[in-house]
Amino acid sequence: MSLRFDEAQLERARHILGAGPICDECLGRPFARVGRGLTNAERGQAMRASLSEPGKAGLCWVCGGLFDRAVAWADRAARRVVEIEFDTYLFGVRLSPRLEEMEAFFKERFPSDEGESLKHAFNRVVGKGFEARLEQSATVDFASPDVSFVIDLASDVLHVHIASVYVYGRYRKLARGIPQTKWPCRRCRGWGCASCGFTGKQYPESVEEWIAAPLLEVTGAEAALLHGAGREDIDARMLGDGRPFVLEVLAPRCRTLDLPRLRRDVNDRAAGKVEVSALSFVDRDAVALLKELHATKRYRALVEFGEPVSSERLDEALSALCGEIEQRTPQRVSHRRADRVRRRRLLSASGEVESARRAVLELEGEGGLYVKELISGDGGRTTPNLTDLLGICALVTELDVVEVRSDAFPDRTGSVDNGEALP
Ligand SMILES: [Zn+2]
Ligand SMILES: [Zn+2]
Repeated sequence: MSLRFDEAQLERARHILGAGPICDECLGRPFARVGRGLTNAERGQAMRASLSEPGKAGLCWVCGGLFDRAVAWADRAARRVVEIEFDTYLFGVRLSPRLEEMEAFFKERFPSDEGESLKHAFNRVVGKGFEARLEQSATVDFASPDVSFVIDLASDVLHVHIASVYVYGRYRKLARGIPQTKWPCRRCRGWGCASCGFTGKQYPESVEEWIAAPLLEVTGAEAALLHGAGREDIDARMLGDGRPFVLEVLAPRCRTLDLPRLRRDVNDRAAGKVEVSALSFVDRDAVALLKELHATKRYRALVEFGEPVSSERLDEALSALCGEIEQRTPQRVSHRRADRVRRRRLLSASGEVESARRAVLELEGEGGLYVKELISGDGGRTTPNLTDLLGICALVTELDVVEVRSDAFPDRTGSVDNGEALP
């Protein structure tokens, strides 16, 4: 250890040593940027040696011996993540009010522009101890660590947070009657009652559960959330290339996932109901991206009329329907959505009359357009609407979403890691 301090530094250290008993870490902290590859404790020792002054004996007046307990905290942290897979970590610390005060006082009395704060130094020392106790290797990540710890010194509690894993993909829903996400039972709100067979669920299955099941098994996670790029009605199918989603796996014990295999697992188990494709790893920002995007949707709707309708009359009405649509929140969702008027564009519409009172329509609209109401009129809450334009009652009896389109989806911008290369 060949550290050279200048006169001014030695003078400052002499003052610090004179203020009371101090540990090597705290003595070294004000000189943290002097000399490379050394610990603060080594700087503190070098300072005492240079001054030939051991300093006063006793508990450090600044940290109260906090650094002596760093090893114990590192141990506690390492024990909490046994059998949890991670590559990166981060420590944070909440000082007790007393330590906050002492640190503030220390910095004020012995200011330094080459120093390191108590929090910063402690986090780093605990992190090093933590790494030394692991059987695997791990590195600090300040931006998005796999596991993060917060040491709360006042309450002596160690908080551990395991970052979610985010898997992007597209799902097709091949059967009607399946909601996108798990719905709690309306009667018991999820607690379990006779009417839901004590499952706590309003519907026995959901797209979310079908996709999550194999991932929960593999990762040992307790929960996963499906974030969709919009959602179709329960009774509508989702066809075509499928709807983009991000599955967030909460607190996974394992993060190395074989996505091609998971895709096969989901598709085997949910055969005929749900099918996934284009699975890839994304970061959490992808969730917000999906929520913000107003993707264009294409629909196929089977429509029945109250009276016979000719092809010419249908074509005429459909071309008049295109353009801006004003929709008041539909009656069927008004119990869970605020009553307001929104405007969405119907971009194109065409129809094929199948029989006098039946037609298949292809409609393309901006995200958020309520298609059933566009056809029925919803008692005048949607204008214009097909029923008014025809002067004949029209009703959607089957609805399929056949495309959810946006150039900004991760699999369209090529900004994803598709996991195919994983061992
Ligand atoms: Zn100290
Ligand atoms: Zn219930």
